[in-house]
Amino acid sequence: MTTALPAIAFDNSYARELEGLYAHVQASHVPAPRLLRFNQALAAELGLDLDGFDHATLAALFAGMQVPAGATPLAQAYAGHQFGGFSPQLGDGRALLLGEVIDVLGRRRDIALKGSGCTPFSRGGDGKAAVGPVLREYLVGEAMHALGVPTTRALAAVSTGEQVQREGLLPGAVLTRVAASHVRVGTFQYFAAHGEIDKLRRLADYVIARHDPQLLGSAEPYLGLLQAVAERQASLIARWMHLGFIHGVMNTDNMTISGETIDYGPCAFMEAYDPGAVFSSIDRQGRYTYSNQPQIARWNLARLAEALLPLMGSDVQRAIDQAMGVLDEFPARYEAHWLQGARAKLGLLEAQDGDLELAQDWLALLHSQAVDFTLAWRHLAAVAAQAEGAAPQGQVLPPNALQAMFVDANALNAWLARWQARLAGEAAQPPGQRAAAMRAVSPIYIPRNALVEEALSAASDHGNLKPFEDFLAVLSQPFVERPGLDRYAQPAPPEVTANYQTFCGT
Ligand code: AMP
Ligand code: MG
Repeated sequence: MTTALPAIAFDNSYARELEGLYAHVQASHVPAPRLLRFNQALAAELGLDLDGFDHATLAALFAGMQVPAGATPLAQAYAGHQFGGFSPQLGDGRALLLGEVIDVLGRRRDIALKGSGCTPFSRGGDGKAAVGPVLREYLVGEAMHALGVPTTRALAAVSTGEQVQREGLLPGAVLTRVAASHVRVGTFQYFAAHGEIDKLRRLADYVIARHDPQLLGSAEPYLGLLQAVAERQASLIARWMHLGFIHGVMNTDNMTISGETIDYGPCAFMEAYDPGAVFSSIDRQGRYTYSNQPQIARWNLARLAEALLPLMGSDVQRAIDQAMGVLDEFPARYEAHWLQGARAKLGLLEAQDGDLELAQDWLALLHSQAVDFTLAWRHLAAVAAQAEGAAPQGQVLPPNALQAMFVDANALNAWLARWQARLAGEAAQPPGQRAAAMRAVSPIYIPRNALVEEALSAASDHGNLKPFEDFLAVLSQPFVERPGLDRYAQPAPPEVTANYQTFCGT
Protein backbone atom coordinates (compact mmCIF):
# COMPACT_ATOMS: atom_id res chain seq x y z
CA MET A 1 0.00 0.00 0.00
CA THR A 2 1.23 3.41 -0.86
CA THR A 3 -0.19 6.87 -1.23
CA ALA A 4 2.25 7.91 -3.94
CA LEU A 5 0.77 8.16 -7.42
CA PRO A 6 1.65 5.53 -9.97
CA ALA A 7 4.32 6.42 -12.48
CA ILE A 8 2.85 6.25 -15.97
CA ALA A 9 5.10 6.51 -18.99
CA PHE A 10 3.07 9.08 -20.90
CA ASP A 11 4.16 10.16 -24.34
CA ASN A 12 1.68 12.85 -25.31
CA SER A 13 1.92 13.43 -29.03
CA TYR A 14 -1.46 15.17 -29.34
CA ALA A 15 -0.49 17.77 -26.74
CA ARG A 16 3.00 18.13 -28.17
CA GLU A 17 2.25 18.30 -31.87
CA LEU A 18 -1.19 19.84 -32.08
CA GLU A 19 -1.05 22.95 -29.97
CA GLY A 20 -3.99 25.18 -30.84
CA LEU A 21 -6.29 22.23 -31.50
CA TYR A 22 -7.26 21.70 -27.88
CA ALA A 23 -7.60 23.44 -24.52
CA HIS A 24 -5.64 22.62 -21.38
CA VAL A 25 -8.09 21.76 -18.60
CA GLN A 26 -7.96 20.26 -15.14
CA ALA A 27 -10.52 17.77 -13.86
CA SER A 28 -13.03 18.96 -11.27
CA HIS A 29 -12.68 18.10 -7.62
CA VAL A 30 -15.16 15.43 -6.52
CA PRO A 31 -16.19 14.76 -2.91
CA ALA A 32 -15.71 11.02 -2.49
CA PRO A 33 -14.19 9.05 -5.37
CA ARG A 34 -14.71 5.32 -5.05
CA LEU A 35 -13.46 2.67 -7.45
CA LEU A 36 -16.39 0.77 -8.95
CA ARG A 37 -14.38 -1.29 -11.40
CA PHE A 38 -10.81 -1.49 -12.55
CA ASN A 39 -9.78 -3.39 -15.65
CA GLN A 40 -6.62 -5.15 -14.56
CA ALA A 41 -6.17 -7.02 -17.84
CA LEU A 42 -6.34 -3.81 -19.85
CA ALA A 43 -3.96 -2.07 -17.44
CA ALA A 44 -1.48 -4.89 -18.04
CA GLU A 45 -1.95 -4.58 -21.80
CA LEU A 46 -1.20 -0.87 -21.50
CA GLY A 47 1.95 -1.63 -19.53
CA LEU A 48 0.64 0.27 -16.50
CA ASP A 49 2.13 -0.88 -13.25
CA LEU A 50 -0.75 -0.26 -10.87
CA ASP A 51 -0.48 -3.43 -8.81
CA GLY A 52 0.73 -2.06 -5.50
CA PHE A 53 -1.80 0.75 -5.33
CA ASP A 54 -4.85 0.71 -3.13
CA HIS A 55 -8.37 1.44 -4.30
CA ALA A 56 -8.37 4.94 -2.82
CA THR A 57 -5.32 5.92 -4.85
CA LEU A 58 -6.74 4.42 -8.04
CA ALA A 59 -10.08 6.11 -7.41
CA ALA A 60 -8.38 9.51 -7.00
CA LEU A 61 -6.35 8.86 -10.12
CA PHE A 62 -9.31 7.78 -12.27
CA ALA A 63 -11.54 10.57 -10.97
CA GLY A 64 -8.93 13.01 -12.26
CA MET A 65 -8.29 14.45 -8.79
CA GLN A 66 -4.66 13.47 -8.78
CA VAL A 67 -2.84 14.15 -12.00
CA PRO A 68 0.02 11.72 -12.47
CA ALA A 69 3.37 13.07 -13.55
CA GLY A 70 3.61 13.35 -17.31
CA ALA A 71 -0.13 13.74 -17.92
CA THR A 72 -1.16 16.81 -19.92
CA PRO A 73 -4.94 16.93 -19.43
CA LEU A 74 -6.64 18.52 -22.41
CA ALA A 75 -10.03 18.82 -24.06
CA GLN A 76 -10.06 18.27 -27.81
CA ALA A 77 -11.90 20.60 -30.16
CA TYR A 78 -14.34 19.01 -32.57
CA ALA A 79 -17.52 19.76 -34.47
CA GLY A 80 -20.09 17.37 -35.85
CA HIS A 81 -23.29 16.64 -37.68
CA GLN A 82 -25.82 15.53 -35.10
CA PHE A 83 -28.84 13.81 -36.62
CA GLY A 84 -27.93 15.51 -39.89
CA GLY A 85 -27.61 19.06 -38.56
CA PHE A 86 -24.20 20.68 -38.28
CA SER A 87 -22.87 21.96 -34.94
CA PRO A 88 -19.63 23.83 -35.61
CA GLN A 89 -18.59 23.72 -31.96
CA LEU A 90 -18.89 20.55 -29.91
CA GLY A 91 -15.61 19.32 -28.46
CA ASP A 92 -14.84 17.45 -25.28
CA GLY A 93 -17.51 18.95 -23.06
CA ARG A 94 -17.00 16.42 -20.32
CA ALA A 95 -13.92 14.50 -21.30
CA LEU A 96 -10.22 14.98 -20.73
CA LEU A 97 -7.39 13.32 -22.53
CA LEU A 98 -4.82 12.61 -19.81
CA GLY A 99 -2.25 11.51 -22.32
CA GLU A 100 -1.02 8.60 -24.40
CA VAL A 101 0.96 5.50 -23.59
CA ILE A 102 2.64 2.96 -25.80
CA ASP A 103 1.15 -0.42 -24.93
CA VAL A 104 2.98 -3.73 -24.62
CA LEU A 105 2.40 -4.39 -28.33
CA GLY A 106 3.85 -1.01 -29.27
CA ARG A 107 0.52 0.62 -30.05
CA ARG A 108 -0.14 4.22 -29.06
CA ARG A 109 -3.28 4.43 -26.90
CA ASP A 110 -5.14 7.43 -25.46
CA ILE A 111 -6.10 7.40 -21.80
CA ALA A 112 -9.00 9.77 -21.24
CA LEU A 113 -11.54 10.57 -18.54
CA LYS A 114 -15.21 11.00 -19.33
CA GLY A 115 -17.42 12.84 -16.84
CA SER A 116 -14.55 14.67 -15.16
CA GLY A 117 -16.10 18.15 -15.18
CA CYS A 118 -16.54 21.23 -17.31
CA THR A 119 -14.26 22.33 -20.11
CA PRO A 120 -14.36 25.28 -22.51
CA PHE A 121 -16.51 23.00 -24.72
CA SER A 122 -19.21 22.24 -22.16
CA ARG A 123 -21.82 24.56 -23.75
CA GLY A 124 -23.97 24.81 -20.64
CA GLY A 125 -23.64 21.11 -19.78
CA ASP A 126 -22.35 20.10 -16.37
CA GLY A 127 -19.38 18.12 -17.66
CA LYS A 128 -20.45 15.13 -15.58
CA ALA A 129 -21.62 11.60 -16.16
CA ALA A 130 -23.82 9.28 -14.12
CA VAL A 131 -23.09 5.79 -12.79
CA GLY A 132 -25.61 4.08 -15.10
CA PRO A 133 -24.27 5.40 -18.43
CA VAL A 134 -20.66 4.98 -17.28
CA LEU A 135 -21.20 1.32 -16.41
CA ARG A 136 -23.17 0.87 -19.61
CA GLU A 137 -20.22 2.08 -21.66
CA TYR A 138 -17.94 -0.16 -19.60
CA LEU A 139 -20.10 -3.25 -20.04
CA VAL A 140 -21.04 -2.89 -23.69
CA GLY A 141 -17.60 -1.68 -24.77
CA GLU A 142 -15.87 -4.60 -23.06
CA ALA A 143 -18.46 -6.97 -24.54
CA MET A 144 -17.76 -5.59 -28.01
CA HIS A 145 -14.05 -6.11 -27.46
CA ALA A 146 -14.64 -9.72 -26.44
CA LEU A 147 -16.82 -10.11 -29.53
CA GLY A 148 -13.84 -9.10 -31.64
CA VAL A 149 -15.12 -5.68 -32.64
CA PRO A 150 -12.69 -2.74 -32.73
CA THR A 151 -13.76 -0.48 -29.88
CA THR A 152 -12.64 1.98 -27.28
CA ARG A 153 -12.07 0.20 -23.98
CA ALA A 154 -12.88 0.86 -20.36
CA LEU A 155 -9.97 0.98 -17.94
CA ALA A 156 -11.85 2.10 -14.85
CA ALA A 157 -15.16 3.35 -13.50
CA VAL A 158 -15.22 5.55 -10.41
CA SER A 159 -18.22 6.90 -8.55
CA THR A 160 -17.74 10.47 -7.42
CA GLY A 161 -19.90 10.69 -4.32
CA GLU A 162 -21.71 13.53 -6.02
CA GLN A 163 -25.26 13.69 -7.39
CA VAL A 164 -25.75 14.81 -10.96
CA GLN A 165 -28.94 16.42 -12.15
CA ARG A 166 -30.58 14.59 -15.03
CA GLU A 167 -34.30 13.85 -15.11
CA GLY A 168 -33.82 13.29 -11.40
CA LEU A 169 -30.71 13.21 -9.25
CA LEU A 170 -28.35 10.39 -10.11
CA PRO A 171 -25.09 9.20 -8.61
CA GLY A 172 -22.15 10.67 -10.52
CA ALA A 173 -19.26 8.74 -12.04
CA VAL A 174 -16.20 9.03 -14.25
CA LEU A 175 -15.18 6.53 -16.89
CA THR A 176 -11.58 6.06 -17.94
CA ARG A 177 -11.60 5.35 -21.63
CA VAL A 178 -8.79 3.95 -23.73
CA ALA A 179 -8.75 4.51 -27.49
CA ALA A 180 -6.44 4.12 -30.46
CA SER A 181 -7.12 7.84 -30.63
CA HIS A 182 -10.09 10.08 -30.00
CA VAL A 183 -9.86 11.78 -33.40
CA ARG A 184 -13.25 11.78 -35.09
CA VAL A 185 -14.72 12.83 -38.39
CA GLY A 186 -15.92 15.84 -36.41
CA THR A 187 -12.36 16.80 -35.44
CA PHE A 188 -11.62 17.46 -39.12
CA GLN A 189 -14.94 19.21 -39.55
CA TYR A 190 -14.12 21.65 -36.78
CA PHE A 191 -11.05 23.08 -38.48
CA ALA A 192 -12.54 22.92 -41.97
CA ALA A 193 -15.66 24.78 -40.81
CA HIS A 194 -13.57 27.43 -39.08
CA GLY A 195 -11.43 27.86 -42.19
CA GLU A 196 -8.30 26.99 -40.22
CA ILE A 197 -6.59 25.16 -43.02
CA ASP A 198 -3.16 25.16 -41.44
CA LYS A 199 -4.55 23.39 -38.37
CA LEU A 200 -6.54 21.07 -40.59
CA ARG A 201 -3.36 20.07 -42.38
CA ARG A 202 -1.48 19.58 -39.12
CA LEU A 203 -4.30 17.38 -37.87
CA ALA A 204 -4.37 15.32 -41.07
CA ASP A 205 -0.59 14.88 -41.07
CA TYR A 206 -0.69 13.89 -37.42
CA VAL A 207 -3.46 11.35 -38.02
CA ILE A 208 -1.67 9.88 -41.00
CA ALA A 209 1.53 9.45 -38.99
CA ARG A 210 -0.45 7.86 -36.15
CA HIS A 211 -2.95 5.65 -37.96
CA ASP A 212 -1.78 5.31 -41.55
CA PRO A 213 1.98 5.76 -41.61
CA GLN A 214 2.17 3.85 -44.90
CA LEU A 215 0.74 7.01 -46.51
CA LEU A 216 3.61 9.22 -45.36
CA GLY A 217 5.33 10.60 -48.43
CA SER A 218 2.72 9.21 -50.82
CA ALA A 219 1.51 11.37 -53.72
CA GLU A 220 -2.08 11.70 -52.44
CA PRO A 221 -1.88 11.28 -48.66
CA TYR A 222 -5.24 12.92 -47.86
CA LEU A 223 -7.13 10.92 -50.44
CA GLY A 224 -5.34 7.89 -49.03
CA LEU A 225 -6.52 8.84 -45.56
CA LEU A 226 -10.12 9.04 -46.75
CA GLN A 227 -9.73 5.62 -48.34
CA ALA A 228 -8.21 4.14 -45.21
CA VAL A 229 -10.99 5.48 -43.00
CA ALA A 230 -13.61 4.21 -45.46
CA GLU A 231 -12.03 0.77 -45.36
CA ARG A 232 -11.98 0.64 -41.56
CA GLN A 233 -15.56 1.84 -41.30
CA ALA A 234 -16.77 -0.64 -43.92
CA SER A 235 -15.21 -3.44 -41.93
CA LEU A 236 -16.49 -2.10 -38.61
CA ILE A 237 -20.10 -1.60 -39.68
CA ALA A 238 -20.19 -5.08 -41.22
CA ARG A 239 -19.15 -6.48 -37.84
CA TRP A 240 -21.88 -4.51 -36.09
CA MET A 241 -24.46 -5.81 -38.53
CA HIS A 242 -23.42 -9.42 -37.97
CA LEU A 243 -23.94 -9.01 -34.24
CA GLY A 244 -27.24 -7.14 -34.45
CA PHE A 245 -25.60 -4.08 -32.91
CA ILE A 246 -27.36 -0.74 -33.29
CA HIS A 247 -25.10 2.16 -32.35
CA GLY A 248 -27.99 4.57 -32.04
CA VAL A 249 -26.16 7.87 -32.45
CA MET A 250 -23.87 7.70 -35.46
CA ASN A 251 -23.25 11.44 -35.52
CA THR A 252 -20.02 12.47 -37.23
CA ASP A 253 -18.52 13.33 -33.84
CA ASN A 254 -19.12 9.72 -32.85
CA MET A 255 -17.28 8.19 -35.81
CA THR A 256 -13.60 7.59 -35.19
CA ILE A 257 -10.80 7.83 -37.71
CA SER A 258 -9.21 4.74 -36.15
CA GLY A 259 -12.21 2.55 -36.95
CA GLU A 260 -13.04 1.86 -33.32
CA THR A 261 -16.62 1.94 -32.09
CA ILE A 262 -17.04 4.91 -29.76
CA ASP A 263 -19.76 6.24 -27.44
CA TYR A 264 -22.12 3.63 -26.08
CA GLY A 265 -24.94 5.99 -25.24
CA PRO A 266 -28.21 4.83 -26.75
CA CYS A 267 -26.86 1.66 -28.35
CA ALA A 268 -28.76 -1.63 -28.25
CA PHE A 269 -28.60 -5.18 -29.51
CA MET A 270 -31.39 -6.48 -31.67
CA GLU A 271 -33.31 -9.53 -30.47
CA ALA A 272 -35.98 -10.60 -33.02
CA TYR A 273 -34.43 -9.88 -36.40
CA ASP A 274 -35.83 -6.68 -37.84
CA PRO A 275 -33.93 -4.47 -40.29
CA GLY A 276 -36.02 -1.53 -39.08
CA ALA A 277 -35.00 -1.93 -35.44
CA VAL A 278 -34.30 1.34 -33.63
CA PHE A 279 -34.35 1.87 -29.89
CA SER A 280 -33.09 5.38 -29.19
CA SER A 281 -35.72 7.68 -27.72
CA ILE A 282 -34.15 10.70 -29.41
CA ASP A 283 -33.98 9.07 -32.86
CA ARG A 284 -37.57 9.92 -33.75
CA GLN A 285 -37.04 9.78 -37.51
CA GLY A 286 -35.25 6.43 -37.32
CA ARG A 287 -32.14 7.90 -38.90
CA TYR A 288 -29.89 5.44 -37.08
CA THR A 289 -32.01 2.34 -37.61
CA TYR A 290 -30.11 -0.98 -37.82
CA SER A 291 -30.32 -1.31 -41.59
CA ASN A 292 -29.44 2.37 -42.19
CA GLN A 293 -26.03 2.06 -40.55
CA PRO A 294 -24.03 1.36 -43.74
CA GLN A 295 -25.62 4.31 -45.56
CA ILE A 296 -25.04 6.55 -42.56
CA ALA A 297 -21.39 5.53 -42.49
CA ARG A 298 -21.13 6.58 -46.13
CA TRP A 299 -22.89 9.86 -45.37
CA ASN A 300 -20.45 10.53 -42.54
CA LEU A 301 -17.52 9.70 -44.82
CA ALA A 302 -18.87 12.27 -47.28
CA ARG A 303 -18.61 14.84 -44.47
CA LEU A 304 -15.02 13.73 -43.86
CA ALA A 305 -14.32 14.06 -47.59
CA GLU A 306 -15.70 17.62 -47.58
CA ALA A 307 -13.51 18.50 -44.65
CA LEU A 308 -10.42 17.07 -46.36
CA LEU A 309 -11.05 18.74 -49.74
CA PRO A 310 -9.10 21.93 -48.92
CA LEU A 311 -6.01 19.74 -48.52
CA MET A 312 -6.50 17.75 -51.70
CA GLY A 313 -4.82 20.07 -54.19
CA SER A 314 -5.72 23.26 -56.00
CA ASP A 315 -7.66 21.49 -58.75
CA VAL A 316 -10.94 21.41 -56.87
CA GLN A 317 -12.88 19.44 -59.48
CA ARG A 318 -10.22 16.77 -59.56
CA ALA A 319 -10.24 16.54 -55.77
CA ILE A 320 -14.03 16.23 -55.72
CA ASP A 321 -13.94 13.51 -58.39
CA GLN A 322 -11.33 11.57 -56.43
CA ALA A 323 -13.26 11.87 -53.17
CA MET A 324 -16.48 10.87 -54.92
CA GLY A 325 -14.69 7.81 -56.23
CA VAL A 326 -13.99 6.69 -52.66
CA LEU A 327 -17.56 7.40 -51.57
CA ASP A 328 -19.05 5.66 -54.59
CA GLU A 329 -17.10 2.50 -53.95
CA PHE A 330 -18.02 2.43 -50.26
CA PRO A 331 -21.18 0.31 -50.73
CA ALA A 332 -19.20 -2.37 -52.58
CA ARG A 333 -16.45 -2.22 -49.98
CA TYR A 334 -19.01 -2.68 -47.24
CA GLU A 335 -20.83 -5.46 -49.12
CA ALA A 336 -17.56 -7.34 -49.50
CA HIS A 337 -16.92 -7.21 -45.75
CA TRP A 338 -20.50 -8.12 -45.01
CA LEU A 339 -20.48 -11.09 -47.36
CA GLN A 340 -17.20 -12.35 -45.96
CA GLY A 341 -18.73 -12.18 -42.48
CA ALA A 342 -21.93 -13.85 -43.65
CA ARG A 343 -19.98 -16.74 -45.18
CA ALA A 344 -18.19 -17.31 -41.90
CA LYS A 345 -21.47 -17.30 -40.01
CA LEU A 346 -22.97 -19.73 -42.50
CA GLY A 347 -19.97 -22.03 -42.11
CA LEU A 348 -18.86 -21.57 -45.71
CA LEU A 349 -15.17 -21.82 -46.43
CA GLU A 350 -15.31 -21.15 -50.15
CA ALA A 351 -16.83 -18.23 -52.01
CA GLN A 352 -19.50 -19.21 -54.50
CA ASP A 353 -22.10 -17.37 -56.52
CA GLY A 354 -25.41 -17.37 -54.74
CA ASP A 355 -23.90 -17.04 -51.25
CA LEU A 356 -25.25 -13.53 -50.88
CA GLU A 357 -28.74 -14.71 -51.74
CA LEU A 358 -28.46 -17.63 -49.36
CA ALA A 359 -27.53 -15.27 -46.53
CA GLN A 360 -30.21 -12.74 -47.44
CA ASP A 361 -32.88 -15.41 -47.61
CA TRP A 362 -31.90 -16.68 -44.18
CA LEU A 363 -32.30 -13.15 -42.79
CA ALA A 364 -35.61 -12.72 -44.59
CA LEU A 365 -36.73 -15.95 -42.94
CA LEU A 366 -35.70 -14.69 -39.51
CA HIS A 367 -37.48 -11.41 -40.18
CA SER A 368 -40.71 -12.98 -41.41
CA GLN A 369 -40.96 -15.11 -38.29
CA ALA A 370 -39.49 -12.61 -35.81
CA VAL A 371 -36.78 -15.03 -34.74
CA ASP A 372 -34.08 -14.04 -32.25
CA PHE A 373 -31.06 -13.10 -34.37
CA THR A 374 -28.33 -14.25 -32.00
CA LEU A 375 -29.88 -17.59 -31.06
CA ALA A 376 -30.84 -18.41 -34.64
CA TRP A 377 -27.22 -18.21 -35.75
CA ARG A 378 -26.09 -20.16 -32.74
CA HIS A 379 -28.62 -22.92 -33.31
CA LEU A 380 -27.63 -23.05 -36.95
CA ALA A 381 -24.16 -24.03 -35.76
CA ALA A 382 -25.82 -26.83 -33.79
CA VAL A 383 -27.47 -28.04 -36.98
CA ALA A 384 -24.08 -28.07 -38.67
CA ALA A 385 -22.65 -30.09 -35.79
CA GLN A 386 -25.42 -32.61 -36.05
CA ALA A 387 -25.13 -32.84 -39.81
CA GLU A 388 -21.39 -33.40 -39.56
CA GLY A 389 -21.78 -36.07 -36.94
CA ALA A 390 -24.83 -38.25 -36.67
CA ALA A 391 -27.00 -37.26 -39.59
CA PRO A 392 -27.01 -39.32 -42.78
CA GLN A 393 -25.62 -37.24 -45.61
CA GLY A 394 -27.90 -34.64 -47.06
CA GLN A 395 -30.69 -35.19 -44.59
CA VAL A 396 -32.12 -32.14 -42.92
CA LEU A 397 -32.09 -32.74 -39.21
CA PRO A 398 -32.61 -29.48 -37.39
CA PRO A 399 -32.42 -30.06 -33.69
CA ASN A 400 -35.47 -28.92 -31.79
CA ALA A 401 -33.89 -25.71 -30.62
CA LEU A 402 -33.84 -24.20 -34.08
CA GLN A 403 -37.18 -25.70 -35.10
CA ALA A 404 -38.82 -24.38 -31.97
CA MET A 405 -37.98 -20.80 -32.83
CA PHE A 406 -39.96 -20.93 -36.07
CA VAL A 407 -43.71 -20.84 -36.34
CA ASP A 408 -43.56 -22.26 -39.86
CA ALA A 409 -40.94 -25.01 -39.94
CA ASN A 410 -41.51 -25.70 -43.65
CA ALA A 411 -39.91 -22.45 -44.70
CA LEU A 412 -37.01 -23.21 -42.38
CA ASN A 413 -36.56 -26.72 -43.72
CA ALA A 414 -36.60 -25.52 -47.31
CA TRP A 415 -33.85 -23.04 -46.55
CA LEU A 416 -31.86 -25.61 -44.53
CA ALA A 417 -31.99 -28.01 -47.47
CA ARG A 418 -30.48 -25.34 -49.72
CA TRP A 419 -27.83 -24.50 -47.14
CA GLN A 420 -26.88 -28.13 -46.59
CA ALA A 421 -26.68 -28.74 -50.32
CA ARG A 422 -24.34 -25.76 -50.52
CA LEU A 423 -22.21 -27.18 -47.65
CA ALA A 424 -22.10 -30.57 -49.32
CA GLY A 425 -20.45 -28.93 -52.32
CA GLU A 426 -17.41 -27.97 -50.23
CA ALA A 427 -14.44 -30.12 -49.34
CA ALA A 428 -15.19 -32.28 -46.30
CA GLN A 429 -13.93 -31.15 -42.91
CA PRO A 430 -13.21 -33.19 -39.79
CA PRO A 431 -16.46 -33.65 -37.81
CA GLY A 432 -17.25 -30.71 -35.59
CA GLN A 433 -14.85 -28.31 -37.24
CA ARG A 434 -17.40 -26.38 -39.23
CA ALA A 435 -19.73 -26.00 -36.26
CA ALA A 436 -16.83 -24.82 -34.09
CA ALA A 437 -15.89 -22.22 -36.69
CA MET A 438 -19.50 -21.03 -36.84
CA ARG A 439 -19.69 -20.76 -33.06
CA ALA A 440 -16.50 -18.71 -33.07
CA VAL A 441 -18.27 -15.94 -35.01
CA SER A 442 -21.82 -16.25 -33.68
CA PRO A 443 -21.93 -15.59 -29.93
CA ILE A 444 -24.20 -17.23 -27.42
CA TYR A 445 -24.01 -14.27 -25.00
CA ILE A 446 -24.53 -10.64 -26.02
CA PRO A 447 -25.43 -7.60 -23.89
CA ARG A 448 -29.15 -8.21 -24.09
CA ASN A 449 -30.96 -4.97 -23.41
CA ALA A 450 -33.13 -6.07 -20.50
CA LEU A 451 -30.16 -7.67 -18.73
CA VAL A 452 -28.05 -4.56 -19.28
CA GLU A 453 -30.77 -2.42 -17.72
CA GLU A 454 -31.14 -4.83 -14.83
CA ALA A 455 -27.41 -4.71 -14.06
CA LEU A 456 -27.23 -0.94 -14.37
CA SER A 457 -30.23 -0.23 -12.24
CA ALA A 458 -28.95 -2.53 -9.49
CA ALA A 459 -25.70 -0.56 -9.51
CA SER A 460 -27.17 2.90 -9.91
CA ASP A 461 -30.30 2.61 -7.77
CA HIS A 462 -29.13 0.20 -5.09
CA GLY A 463 -25.34 0.37 -5.14
CA ASN A 464 -25.29 -3.34 -5.89
CA LEU A 465 -22.54 -4.15 -8.39
CA LYS A 466 -22.96 -7.92 -8.32
CA PRO A 467 -25.26 -8.19 -11.36
CA PHE A 468 -22.89 -5.93 -13.31
CA GLU A 469 -19.85 -8.01 -12.32
CA ASP A 470 -21.62 -11.26 -13.12
CA PHE A 471 -22.77 -10.04 -16.51
CA LEU A 472 -19.34 -8.64 -17.34
CA ALA A 473 -17.83 -12.06 -16.60
CA VAL A 474 -20.39 -13.76 -18.84
CA LEU A 475 -19.74 -11.30 -21.67
CA SER A 476 -15.98 -11.67 -21.44
CA GLN A 477 -16.34 -15.06 -23.18
CA PRO A 478 -19.29 -14.51 -25.48
CA PHE A 479 -18.62 -17.47 -27.79
CA VAL A 480 -18.21 -20.14 -25.14
CA GLU A 481 -21.43 -21.66 -23.84
CA ARG A 482 -21.13 -22.49 -20.14
CA PRO A 483 -23.48 -24.38 -17.83
CA GLY A 484 -25.68 -22.35 -15.52
CA LEU A 485 -25.75 -19.26 -17.73
CA ASP A 486 -28.89 -20.07 -19.68
CA ARG A 487 -30.74 -16.98 -18.57
CA TYR A 488 -28.07 -14.76 -20.19
CA ALA A 489 -28.71 -16.40 -23.55
CA GLN A 490 -32.45 -15.83 -23.57
CA PRO A 491 -34.23 -12.95 -25.28
CA ALA A 492 -36.60 -10.81 -23.29
CA PRO A 493 -40.33 -11.40 -23.83
CA PRO A 494 -41.36 -9.69 -27.10
CA GLU A 495 -43.49 -7.13 -25.28
CA VAL A 496 -40.45 -5.99 -23.29
CA THR A 497 -38.38 -5.61 -26.45
CA ALA A 498 -41.22 -3.82 -28.22
CA ASN A 499 -41.24 -1.14 -25.53
CA TYR A 500 -37.50 -0.95 -25.03
CA GLN A 501 -36.02 2.53 -25.35
CA THR A 502 -32.52 3.80 -24.87
CA PHE A 503 -31.52 7.29 -23.82
CA CYS A 504 -28.49 9.34 -24.68
CA GLY A 505 -25.81 8.71 -22.10
CA THR A 506 -25.60 12.25 -20.81
P1 AMP B 1 -22.31 12.64 -26.92
O1 AMP B 1 -23.78 12.66 -27.14
O2 AMP B 1 -21.90 12.05 -25.60
O3 AMP B 1 -21.55 12.11 -28.07
O4 AMP B 1 -21.91 14.18 -26.78
C1 AMP B 1 -22.15 15.15 -27.77
C2 AMP B 1 -21.53 16.46 -27.33
O5 AMP B 1 -22.15 16.93 -26.14
C3 AMP B 1 -20.05 16.39 -27.02
O6 AMP B 1 -19.48 17.61 -27.41
C4 AMP B 1 -20.03 16.23 -25.53
O7 AMP B 1 -18.82 16.66 -24.97
C5 AMP B 1 -21.18 17.09 -25.11
N1 AMP B 1 -21.78 16.67 -23.85
C6 AMP B 1 -22.54 15.58 -23.63
N2 AMP B 1 -22.91 15.52 -22.34
C7 AMP B 1 -22.37 16.58 -21.72
C8 AMP B 1 -22.39 17.08 -20.38
N3 AMP B 1 -23.05 16.45 -19.41
N4 AMP B 1 -21.70 18.22 -20.13
C9 AMP B 1 -21.04 18.86 -21.08
N5 AMP B 1 -20.99 18.45 -22.36
C10 AMP B 1 -21.64 17.32 -22.68
MG1 MG C 1 -19.75 11.64 -28.55
